[in-house]
Amino acid sequence: MTIDNKCKNCGGELIYDVSSGELKCMQCDSIVDIPEQNANATKVDYTETSTLKTSTEEYTQYSCSTCGRKHITPVHQELVNCPSCGDCNLEKNVSVSYIPDGIIPFKLDKEKAMQSFSQWLRKRFWAPSNLKKLAKTESLKGTYFPIYNYDFNCFSKYSGVGVKSRRGLDGKTYTTRHKFKGDRNDNFINYVDSANTTIPSGLLREMSNFDYTQCYIYRTEFLYGWIGLDNNIDIHNSFVKVKQSSKQEIEKRIKQESKYDSVENLICDTEYTNIKYNYLYVPVWVNYYNYKGKTFNCFINGITGKVSGDAPKSFWKRFFAILGIIAVGVLLYFLTK
Ligand SMILES: [Zn+2]
Ligand SMILES: [Zn+2]
Repeated sequence: MTIDNKCKNCGGELIYDVSSGELKCMQCDSIVDIPEQNANATKVDYTETSTLKTSTEEYTQYSCSTCGRKHITPVHQELVNCPSCGDCNLEKNVSVSYIPDGIIPFKLDKEKAMQSFSQWLRKRFWAPSNLKKLAKTESLKGTYFPIYNYDFNCFSKYSGVGVKSRRGLDGKTYTTRHKFKGDRNDNFINYVDSANTTIPSGLLREMSNFDYTQCYIYRTEFLYGWIGLDNNIDIHNSFVKVKQSSKQEIEKRIKQESKYDSVENLICDTEYTNIKYNYLYVPVWVNYYNYKGKTFNCFINGITGKVSGDAPKSFWKRFFAILGIIAVGVLLYFLTK
């Protein structure tokens, strides 16, 4: 049973509160406990017939034609602007979306997220000077990103040609090639894959570092006052991608751990076993800012405050830097002449 989003004391709206980890009334500050909220979300076996859970409750889906992202809110909650680009022409639909197995609730409040963002922006040397002011006025929205989280074991048989070069006494370089083969085991734990095509998995892995022991069974109440990003990648398509990227990782390890200078013609045959997964929501503060007609996104980890994203580079800053280098070069030329 989902708790009604209206406060019993005053009728105000209840939202998920970061500091108490419960629901809080926006008007009278009453706290309402979320039932069974400390139950951890576990992983299940992945098979060819694995499917995600469909929701028994209604959600509203808001599609943005400008950035292409779709966001989800509980039905009572209105979304006026797109959290990713600020566009207000959103198409509203009843969502029949999948619901996550688990959720890692936000721990970092908006103020702290803004501090992390400002610090990050200050370190962007090439960013235009007026960007700081610009970025502050734009909105920061707490959004849950959909991810698949996997555990699996890999057994790989491999062969290749190892190359070694050495310099002889005569000063010439001698190259030798040796065939090699072997097998190895690799275990992947909490290997993350994005469940939304607009969010690259590489970015998620770079910013993630989430504590998966703090991952609770999903309940709609966690989304009160917050937003979810839609899932648009099927679990099976996701696992195909995961196989490819984890295999690349294994091949990289084989090359790094070999005693050769380089490796040629590497063939690696990998078997995947004990595959477990769950589908999760992870907390990300999303910030956007428009600069010269282009929209930039910044993502702030909703637990640690780590920032990932793009900042525009100032043409004039780069122009004067190059000019400075040329001037110093010319000066040195005449001084040493
Ligand atoms: Zn109240
Ligand atoms: Zn948008």
